[in-house]
Amino acid sequence: MTTLQSFNPADGTLVWEGQVADTHDVSAALMRARKAFAGWAAQGTQQRVEAVQRYKQALEARKDALAETIARETGKPLWETRSEVASMIGKVDISIRAQAERAGEKRTDMPFGQAVLRHRPHGVMAVLGPFNFPGHLPNGHIIPALLAGNTVVFKPSEMTPATGALMAECWAEALADHPHVFQCIQGARETGEALVAGRVDGLLFTGSAGAGAHFRRVFADRPDVILALELGGNNPLVAWDADDIQEAASVVVQSAFITTGQRCSCARRLIVPDNAFGSALVDAVAALADRIVIGAWDETPEPWFGPLISDAAAAAAKARFDGLVTSGARVIRPFTGIEGRSAAFVTPGILDVTGVFVPDEEIFAPVLQVSRVPDFDAAIEAANNTRFGLSAGLISADDVLWQRFLVECRAGVVNRNRPTTGAAGSMPFGGLGESGNHRPSAYYAADYCAYPIASFEAADAGGNAGALNGKIRP
Ligand code: NAD
Repeated sequence: MTTLQSFNPADGTLVWEGQVADTHDVSAALMRARKAFAGWAAQGTQQRVEAVQRYKQALEARKDALAETIARETGKPLWETRSEVASMIGKVDISIRAQAERAGEKRTDMPFGQAVLRHRPHGVMAVLGPFNFPGHLPNGHIIPALLAGNTVVFKPSEMTPATGALMAECWAEALADHPHVFQCIQGARETGEALVAGRVDGLLFTGSAGAGAHFRRVFADRPDVILALELGGNNPLVAWDADDIQEAASVVVQSAFITTGQRCSCARRLIVPDNAFGSALVDAVAALADRIVIGAWDETPEPWFGPLISDAAAAAAKARFDGLVTSGARVIRPFTGIEGRSAAFVTPGILDVTGVFVPDEEIFAPVLQVSRVPDFDAAIEAANNTRFGLSAGLISADDVLWQRFLVECRAGVVNRNRPTTGAAGSMPFGGLGESGNHRPSAYYAADYCAYPIASFEAADAGGNAGALNGKIRP
């Protein structure tokens, strides 16, 4: 029996310990999920709506415990994990609305009877979650999948099993009369691999682009399996003009450094004009970054961000930062550890990479790469110079530039004068290129959780013979 443990990255203390699901456990869970599918799919929509509403109540009853668990397991401050739990709770009503609007039933009267649009669930969905929003992101797949009538086998990130276990407790309460409709299995990549290799009808995945590319290959010969990929990015933020440089610097700092840079939609690249505004903005961003309160989730004063997910993540990001410096990048603000803290704590780093070859990779940490460009054409070219396409932003009061940016910049989330991380559950969330596979999540998750069936329906076969009149031999 193999054991999985998770640790608080702020101080290394143990948060969770439990058993890893092996190949046998995974296929048993998939078999149970398949058995449970027919009964769950046959439930009326109202019964499933009631089940997710019971889940919402279970979340509400545990909201403090959940916020604290996410904070201890990820290192994120409590203000942020409370808002994550609020998003999880809010997701229930949003998903019910989305399901009705995007995957419900529609009837249109026709001369012969009716044209009817219905949606049917796919079957057994595997959900693999990331560590950075260990509650909110898998929740955004699981609720729509269950509402649509699928059964779900969920594997949380190996970094955040305690969060997954608490979610499972909520579902167990909500689905007490529907065993195996939702199951949570714990483990690392091997467990995920066993899940994906099993008999699943869909994989709903939020995680790294590397894993997403791997899954595209795994499922290349299984077109019957629905694959929804929500992946990383190398997101550009073009800052072109602003009346108030401090406000603009706040947009940049929030875009680049929130959640210690561990949001898929964080700005990784700041593109500024090579002029006085560009220089003043970069100075203001560096000065603001100096003043960020960094600390453990429960410290006073409340930190804006905590440690990275692990010491290893910090070491990997440091190696990438140092590699860019070796390639010629100029350090505007160093990316270092913090004395007296665990090795997972880092300071926000800023590099000027103008004229330097930079690999088109996501650095999942508070590292911002600044490029200075001569004109707006070059800014858009630089913004689009990536194989990803998740989020992008423009800081400018110029409506003409915004219209150009909207038309020419390729990304699934394109914000103006707001952080690149700005997103709402009432809108779709997904990316182009290596950032996804055109199956956006959030409000559009309902689309990949069910397939549409179009029917022409008449009460009897009358009225069909007339169409052949005069066109067949007597
Ligand atoms: P990850 O890809 O390392 O892991 C995600 C999950 O997939 C984990 O449960 C992991 O165990 C599993 N997994 C990884 N490789 C696997 C494989 N080969 N076979 C089976 N299972 C496998 O991602 P992470 O480090 O947990 O999360 C951070 C990444 O997620 C970043 O790249 C970030 O940009 C991305 N992300 C994307 C979104 C989005 O909505 N687009 C949101 C959050 C995070």
